[in-house]
Amino acid sequence: MAEAKNHDLVIIGAGPGGYVAAIRAAQLGFDVACIEAESELGGTCVRVGCIPSKALLEASELFYQAQNKLGEFGVGVKGVELDLGRMLDKKSEVVKANTQGVAFLFKKNKVTRYQGHGRITGKGRVLVESSDGSTELSAKHILIATGSKVAPLKGVELDGDRIGTSTEALSYPEVPGHLVVIGAGYIGLEMGSVWSRLGAKVTVLEYLDRILPGMDSEIANDARRLFKKQGMVFSLGARVTGARVEGDQVKVTVDGSDPITCDRVLLSVGRIPDTEGLGLDSVGIELDKRGRIPVDEHYSTRVDGIYAIGDVIEGPMLAHKASEEGVACVEHLATGYGHVNYDAIPGVVYTDPEIASVGATEDQLKEDGVPYAKGMFPFSANGRARALGHTDGRVKILAHKETDRILGVHIIGPRAGDLIAEIVAAIEFGASSEDIARTCHAHPTLSEAVHEAALAVAGHALHI
Ligand code: FAD
Ligand code: AMP
Repeated sequence: MAEAKNHDLVIIGAGPGGYVAAIRAAQLGFDVACIEAESELGGTCVRVGCIPSKALLEASELFYQAQNKLGEFGVGVKGVELDLGRMLDKKSEVVKANTQGVAFLFKKNKVTRYQGHGRITGKGRVLVESSDGSTELSAKHILIATGSKVAPLKGVELDGDRIGTSTEALSYPEVPGHLVVIGAGYIGLEMGSVWSRLGAKVTVLEYLDRILPGMDSEIANDARRLFKKQGMVFSLGARVTGARVEGDQVKVTVDGSDPITCDRVLLSVGRIPDTEGLGLDSVGIELDKRGRIPVDEHYSTRVDGIYAIGDVIEGPMLAHKASEEGVACVEHLATGYGHVNYDAIPGVVYTDPEIASVGATEDQLKEDGVPYAKGMFPFSANGRARALGHTDGRVKILAHKETDRILGVHIIGPRAGDLIAEIVAAIEFGASSEDIARTCHAHPTLSEAVHEAALAVAGHALHI
């Protein structure tokens, strides 16, 4: 075999963790290589996750609005038709623009790209294997950013067609008559919303007695009520035991209730770290109980010179969390500094209304016995929300009872995902709810609902 190609840093995986780390490391002067198994860069997020799902959420919402809402504003549209083929093409165009964007950034920053499966063969050594052969790489630092894959469920026989994952749900060739979604996490609810807006009957089967586990339960209850109004059917406390294709239908079995027959099934019971064929045993890295790579506060594994970030390690499986870790990891390598504030990582569900959250939930504060004050403000009392015709939802701010420091904020309502940014910055600066209350917010904007909720923490909201 030819002599190994040497780089300062070899990154395995070009998702939002790996590709962002690659760009930042290159900016810092490293000679960087990035190995990606797929032909396109960008990872789960760009190819089959965040980006295509948001493209379909936007498109399906436009269809829904044209059919059901525009008339309310005096905009008459007749004969609204769904061209699903065009909608899917548009989604693919958005994905392509993003994958090509990452490729452009790699070129611009002189990141060397290797296409193939990366396998660690020893300290400082990685083998790239592809159909064209294999290439050996050597590096002082190796960064694992291999992400995650769909968690399987016993008895659910994925056939890549009628019984599929979010990947199939991004490209159904027709609107299913009846779609069963297994698992009421954000992926199931987002993809369920897409197909519900396009005309499918959507039944969500969830094992727990609530939806959106981990999110603030009061806000999650609001969400369930609103999604039910939109036509989604929820069956809580439903443990799915199997799903199999019967002819051109699918039979889903649920513990203790009658089986359900439907056209398609979306399995969305979570994701698991992807360390398949990564060669971790060659260097003695062992996984934790949930299959994640254990790392220290600087993302170093137990082996010197090997690091891991993103979905493959502990923490919320979110694109921006992966990117932040990538930046912090390589900045620490270059400068000795690099840090992620895990108290200030927002989470957004891009349904209608959107749901956004940062910091502690009220449930957590109660459980931990933390004294808190709570301020809430409904969008029904916000002038801009009325003008938009989007008055469902509210802002909820939780601040420490004694210090007034903001502990958590949960928003369900129009553009919640954008509104949360103000709060993330506030938490980053260690702000109090009074800081938000004393900040001037433009009128008339949705952000005034955040302002009013902050005023409400001290009991003097103005417009309610
Ligand atoms: P990934 O994006 O999974 O990238 C890892 C890459 O490594 C992949 O491209 C893979 O092919 C490659 N790889 C794996 N093993 C090897 C190997 N041995 N050799 C070479 N390459 C390898 N998050 C959000 O923040 N917002 C959202 O709106 C959002 N929506 C989502 C919607 C869906 C439907 C899904 C499935 C996920 C969504 N996520 C969202 C989650 C987000 O996609 C992940 O958290 C994020 O992609 C994790 O980034 P990563 O870099 O750790 O891994
Ligand atoms: P998330 O991990 O956020 O993607 O959410 C996955 C959801 O799937 C969680 O709410 C789980 O409770 C749910 N879930 C897991 N197993 C089952 C099952 N067998 N039947 C129904 N729901 C399940």
